[in-house]
Amino acid sequence: MAISGKEREDFEKQLEPYVGLDIGIEDRGRDPVNAAMVRHWCEAMGDHCGAYTDADQAGNSVHGELVAPPTMLQAWILGGVGMATGESDPRDKQKELHRLFDAHGFTGVVATNTEQEYTRYLKMGDEIRATTVIESISEQKATGLGIGYFINTRTRFYDQNDDEVGWLTFRVLKFENEAPAAATEAEAPAAAGRPQRLKPALAHDNQWWWDCVEQGELAIQKCSDCQALRHPPRPMCGECQSSDWEFVFSTGQGTIHSYVVIRYPEVPGYTYPLVVAVVDLEEGTRFVGNVLDVEPDDVEIGMAVQASIELVDDEMKLPVFRRA
Ligand SMILES: [Zn+2]
Repeated sequence: MAISGKEREDFEKQLEPYVGLDIGIEDRGRDPVNAAMVRHWCEAMGDHCGAYTDADQAGNSVHGELVAPPTMLQAWILGGVGMATGESDPRDKQKELHRLFDAHGFTGVVATNTEQEYTRYLKMGDEIRATTVIESISEQKATGLGIGYFINTRTRFYDQNDDEVGWLTFRVLKFENEAPAAATEAEAPAAAGRPQRLKPALAHDNQWWWDCVEQGELAIQKCSDCQALRHPPRPMCGECQSSDWEFVFSTGQGTIHSYVVIRYPEVPGYTYPLVVAVVDLEEGTRFVGNVLDVEPDDVEIGMAVQASIELVDDEMKLPVFRRA
């Protein structure tokens, strides 16, 4: 339950000094703006603009030389993998603020939106640093995720001449997580009991399929015009673009088309190693599911499997496969 009354008043008083506060640490780019990072970014994003990766094209462009994609701004100051694993800097007021929320039960965090503005194109060799201010903390809000507070920060980016090259705002919701939070690894198993699996987002296009699962049936969507089968459920036929559809029930018989064995990272609610297979159902479409009660080494492509609908945690039913 959300804190209220005097407790809430005291908590919100503790939040006040953070509004307008610089978080106290400066993010400094570990490398100057460089062609290698730009190329990797462009490959990952599928951005083929020559001004970013082709020196000749860039030379003939309005820039006259290679430049970095503006949207890459934040990449220059990110801390790498250490961000997730390293000890936080004790001077970091943003982390301190998050810990204060955690201590009052607002342990959930989700990023909700960001706005960015780029003052100029960054060039190779530019050295970037950034400072961040906690701009505002909202009133307590009731959201779809739970009771919480929105925290807005603004990060300003500067170059080696201390000229501002852009800024971004970042908004997160710190909310009261209803599920027992795995606060620390040591506490988690005892406090949380058996973790529940993540639930699917249900909407107009897929609710019917989960209703079938609830009734113990593995349904396959079928185009009413060209009869093509499809899964997962979607509103339009990929073969003939018809939006008229019906469905058939699968016998659950199939063969393994391909599979992977997942060992790490371990997501709560699953048992590892976890065999995840793409199954050719005998009806003629494919379905992705877990294969249970088989040693990973014994799984083979072409192996005959049979689906059944089972509870995979206290609430959720799913089709799972076993060796036929
Ligand atoms: Zn069709």
